[in-house]
Amino acid sequence: MIGSPAGTIRVLVVEDEQHLADGLRFNLEAEGYAVQVVETGEAALQLLQSGSEFDVVVLDVMLPGIDGFAVIAAMRQAGQFVPALMLTARGQAEDVLRGFAAGADDYLTKPFDLAILLARIKGLLRRGEWVRKARNAASNEDSFTFGDKTVHFGQLELHVRGQIFPLTLMEANLLRYLVRHDGKTVSRKAMLEDVWGLHEDTDTRAIDNFMVRLRRYIEEDPKNPKHLLTVRALGYRFIANPGT
Ligand code: CA
Repeated sequence: MIGSPAGTIRVLVVEDEQHLADGLRFNLEAEGYAVQVVETGEAALQLLQSGSEFDVVVLDVMLPGIDGFAVIAAMRQAGQFVPALMLTARGQAEDVLRGFAAGADDYLTKPFDLAILLARIKGLLRRGEWVRKARNAASNEDSFTFGDKTVHFGQLELHVRGQIFPLTLMEANLLRYLVRHDGKTVSRKAMLEDVWGLHEDTDTRAIDNFMVRLRRYIEEDPKNPKHLLTVRALGYRFIANPGT
């Protein structure tokens, strides 16, 4: 990273397969990104914890030592909300779910099309840029209050009765989407397309996992939700002010 010109977009690649890591580096550098490659999750965490900053992280799930899920979870726990794209070997629903649950923002199944990877990275960078701008502006305007809860979209924080929950980019995006559709039923498919930009045949159950987490934050009794309702066979409905 030393010597990269100011304003250069920095990408951290965590990949132990040499040929794939080399290919990623070559193609990302061709796009003008500054690329750092590490082979293990431990090395990635060490870099991030030592203060190295990146604009996006691309990481393989299957790594020697701790796996990609654990890396993302540790990053998020440490308050690092750099957008993260996960590369899964199998693309099974349970892997995707685990990745999102750990705090991944997006995923691709190996083998992947390079053009698609580059497009996904650009998508994450756009969303990351929006977060950064909001943070730099240090404004509370981009927030939404319902009941005793306030979502600060820019800061990626949910304040509930004096408690602060950090949100991942995707959780914040999903909440924003739900708030915009206050009172309306939204389908899982629409959310996958509009929030994640996923148009392919994705397992929509990944959404349910997010809802479980959001309920833990915003519902007094997550098993008996008042704000975030399941609409059988259709999807979900967010209600900012139930009973009004
Ligand atoms: Ca691997």
